[in-house]
Amino acid sequence: MADNGPDKKRVSTGSRRWRRARQVVQVLALLLFFYLLLGTRQAGTTALPHDIFFRLDPLVGISTMLASRQWVPALAVGGVTLLLTLVLGRFWCGWLCPLGTILDWTPARRPRRGRSDTAGHWKYVKYLVLSITLLSAALGSLTILVLDPITLLFRTVSNALLPAFSTVVTTVEGWLYRMEPLQPAVEWLDGLVRGWLLTEQAFFIPGLLLIAVFTGVLALNAIRRRFWCRYLCPLGALLGLFSRFAWLRHFVDEGKCTSCRRCALSCPMGAIDPERGFAASAAECTVCLDCAEACPAGVIAFRGQKVHHAIPHFQPSRRQLFASLGVVAIGTALLKTTTFFRSKNPMLVRPPGVQEEELLSKCVRCGECTRVCPTGGLQPSLTTAGWEGLWTPVLVSRFGYCDYSCNSCGQVCPTGAIPRLPLDVKRLAVIGLAVIDEERCLPYAEGKPCIVCEEMCPVPEKAIQLDEESVVNEHGETVILQYPRVIRHLCIGCGICEYQCPLEGEAAIRVYAPGEAPPHEQPQQRRRGQQ
Ligand code: SF4
Ligand code: SF4
Repeated sequence: MADNGPDKKRVSTGSRRWRRARQVVQVLALLLFFYLLLGTRQAGTTALPHDIFFRLDPLVGISTMLASRQWVPALAVGGVTLLLTLVLGRFWCGWLCPLGTILDWTPARRPRRGRSDTAGHWKYVKYLVLSITLLSAALGSLTILVLDPITLLFRTVSNALLPAFSTVVTTVEGWLYRMEPLQPAVEWLDGLVRGWLLTEQAFFIPGLLLIAVFTGVLALNAIRRRFWCRYLCPLGALLGLFSRFAWLRHFVDEGKCTSCRRCALSCPMGAIDPERGFAASAAECTVCLDCAEACPAGVIAFRGQKVHHAIPHFQPSRRQLFASLGVVAIGTALLKTTTFFRSKNPMLVRPPGVQEEELLSKCVRCGECTRVCPTGGLQPSLTTAGWEGLWTPVLVSRFGYCDYSCNSCGQVCPTGAIPRLPLDVKRLAVIGLAVIDEERCLPYAEGKPCIVCEEMCPVPEKAIQLDEESVVNEHGETVILQYPRVIRHLCIGCGICEYQCPLEGEAAIRVYAPGEAPPHEQPQQRRRGQQ
């Protein structure tokens, strides 16, 4: 291409150095990602903002602002990533994306010599995923954002891998602790890792689903290197659109190129097309520099170029265009259909201060809130909130409760989907209503004494109070029995009563979404109830 071809030795040494620099940056970015993930227990507990990767992710920012029709200042930082993409191309994918780095390190099928490894037309699938993501966001739904690489990785680690790891370690610790000589060592080890590496979050079925999806993303490498980035990633597609106009571009000195194809074989993105003089597609190239290092003639260079040379090559046929638009329209319509059939679920107890519509239009399914919930009560929804609420946070009181002294979820939520309430305000936020099941509650059902729920209730005035009554027990003695009763206007629905209820299986007191207690358990219908 250019006649002032680069000096072979200088370019290959320079490329090698830059490639090493990229690998160092990749490792540092991945370490930072895990440091922030593990270090976040509350906002402000890490040296950098805990949500920096979400802020830098322009797809998260654009989608959230589209869906909520609000300007979210923290997410505007994603604009910096887009501006840098206009200068450096898809550098995010090659240098910074933690999922991209993991994919680089995952064993992958290498192309055979003489075979083409170009991405082909399937690479446009990711633009369809991007279109559906943005269109559904414009219609108010963020469900498809589960495919964003940052949310996908964060969610998998925090909601599945860490809880699974904790469960295994805690079980092993339990076994070892039975051996007396090992007890001090077990206690020391537990104290060292509990809280940041070992989490209170229970591992349950949605975690298995997450692990399956994540394993699938890695396993796709067996078909093509970086299959996910080439064909599916919506963030990659967004950055690809911008990098078509990037200033930094891949050049081949065609006069000196020996057509050995090594660059094309080395490119993990299949961006280099041998049929087009070994030129790299600006939309696919992640500036990883593998090609420059692989070139034995040292004739590949990355240089600045004026924007008007950056002409996109994709000229879709009319049929392709209509087919794509059809897929986008059908996909978007399917996503929205569930909105019209949305039915209220009595178990849909949300974190404090949440407005349902606001949550659905702002929750990017990152899992930050479920990660920091100290009791493990906050869980990602699989079916409770319907399709539109997939992976949004719900409080499952039998797993854990909303701690009266905690407001962490609102502090760490990067988008404001959970409002940042001061503790005194959060304590007054009503998230549900506790209802006693008199058919299971020990004093009502079996005449046995139990006041655990009343003792546990954290509300200063006590939202559960006890009525005393003399009864004749099974031995024919007259005793005073205390019957718990929920004081409706005091109950905030924190769920500690349900969590602590000593019955096996389902609790005898359950927390329902505000106004959603089922009719057969409404108060005053049995012998006792609520005020
Ligand atoms: S405020 Fe409640 S739901 Fe939120 S993190 Fe704290 S305990 Fe969990
Ligand atoms: S509500 Fe939870 S999962 Fe949703 S964006 Fe906020 S922190 Fe992330």
